[in-house]
Amino acid sequence: MSQIVELKRKPRKAKCPICARPSLAGLEPFCSKRCKDEDLRRWLDGGYRIPTDEGPDAPDVP
Ligand SMILES: [Zn+2]
Repeated sequence: MSQIVELKRKPRKAKCPICARPSLAGLEPFCSKRCKDEDLRRWLDGGYRIPTDEGPDAPDVP
């Protein structure tokens, strides 16, 4: 006897990481440009620091 198991199909479209809504074509994985911008903002504010020309406050200069 073979038991047919209904496999869970992977969703083709990812959910919006911001509001968990179905992503919109062209804006994947986001559902809207707003969420896309929000994600970028969170990403930038999430600890990632853009390297600047300015060095540390107290550079070790010999
Ligand atoms: Zn969204």
